[in-house]
Amino acid sequence: MSDNRVVQGRMVTPERLAELIEDESVIDAEPIRDAEQRCPDCGGDVLEVGYMPSALEFVTGWKCQECDWNDTDRE
Ligand SMILES: [Zn+2]
Repeated sequence: MSDNRVVQGRMVTPERLAELIEDESVIDAEPIRDAEQRCPDCGGDVLEVGYMPSALEFVTGWKCQECDWNDTDRE
């Protein structure tokens, strides 16, 4: 797929990026986007991905391309 991106030196799919944020498997993920922000830990580029960890939940997650930093829009 054309929207795979490099994260911490590895090529990831949207589903794999969501799994890195969620620490478990997800059932669906949207294409990866560039977030309009910099990583608060290392200043690296941040990617954004919307995904469904379960059939009843939609989460927007962010993950740094260079380090382990990640965040979600969960309350
Ligand atoms: Zn970072």
